[in-house]
Amino acid sequence: MLDFKLTQHQQEAQSRQEDQVYDLIILGGGPAGLTAAIYAGRAALKTLVVAGSLPGGQVANTERVENFPGFPDGIAGPELAQRVHEQAQRFGAAVMLEGVRGVDFSVYPLEVRASSDVYRARAVIIATGTFPRRLKVSGESEFYGRGVSTCATCDGFFYKDRRVVVVGGGDSAVEEGLFLTKFAREVIVVHRRDELRASQILQGRAFANSKMHFVWDSVVEEILGDQAVKGVRIRNVKTGEMSTIDTDGVFIYVGLIPATKIFEGQVDMDTNGYIITDRTQRTSVPGVFAAGDVQNPDFRQAVVAAGSGAAAAMAADRFLAEQPHADWSRRDE
Ligand code: NAP
Repeated sequence: MLDFKLTQHQQEAQSRQEDQVYDLIILGGGPAGLTAAIYAGRAALKTLVVAGSLPGGQVANTERVENFPGFPDGIAGPELAQRVHEQAQRFGAAVMLEGVRGVDFSVYPLEVRASSDVYRARAVIIATGTFPRRLKVSGESEFYGRGVSTCATCDGFFYKDRRVVVVGGGDSAVEEGLFLTKFAREVIVVHRRDELRASQILQGRAFANSKMHFVWDSVVEEILGDQAVKGVRIRNVKTGEMSTIDTDGVFIYVGLIPATKIFEGQVDMDTNGYIITDRTQRTSVPGVFAAGDVQNPDFRQAVVAAGSGAAAAMAADRFLAEQPHADWSRRDE
């Protein structure tokens, strides 16, 4: 006759597994993910944040954040990221600095495959944000890290007294271009139209800065160099004329792409890959929520991301409270 009793070894394994079931796993360590972690921690949810190797999201790569409430003089992006990180930890969230490799939302508890382990949770918040779009021109990949960059805050220092090209016309291109004027002798913004998309306040600063110059109606066709970048080949989209700008650095800011590849087939997304949520941050899968830029192509601001992170955590808490045995793994206060 079969014995259905668990061996001691099986019991230990099962209890280890049970220990590893979190109430909530948050994927992403930007303003959305870490604000969700603050709220989840305060709701006494056993919370794990899989924050990626460099937490902080886009904010951590921003020199100064001037529009986050509570900082009338602005705050350095890395400092804001660090403070939110500390606040999340203060309220008990475990923050792992590793990437997410995949998820399985067809099982319950939900599964998250990270670099070092597989984690399970009764609810998940996706807050993986966006990453910079590439131009996909010749030389871009070849010279990435050798003159091509998407992070002026990280690499601007290397261009002291040099001439650099910034590609794009949005807030990122103009803001980072302005940052680069602290080091470079000249910053040339190459934009595909004859007016900027960036906010008026940034445009005003850019046009008033004598180091900033603009090449309108032009796209980069090729990045030139040998050991490092030496120039860009550009095409005027109105006249078709080709020309070359000599430069030591090319900073590319042509928009952002949602980091959602690993969620394909798991949750509903729109045609651009943004996760679809309802008013309470719920995705198409019960127990799975999304917050921040990954589900909001319209208002990509740190404060908006933080707000949606808070909302997602409260929605997750409400979801968990409605589940049977909801208190099984609640952290002791
Ligand atoms: P964005 O607003 O999408 O702007 C991308 C820019 O790149 C646009 O000017 C676009 O041209 C151009 N572009 C797109 N594809 C291109 C291509 N293949 N070749 C050449 N040019 C191309 O992206 P972003 O500037 O990274 O900003 C993203 C979001 O973050 C925005 O919502 C922005 O407001 C926000 N943000 C805010 C701040 C702030 O508040 N201080 C700072 C940074 C970012 P077109 O204009 O012709 O479309």
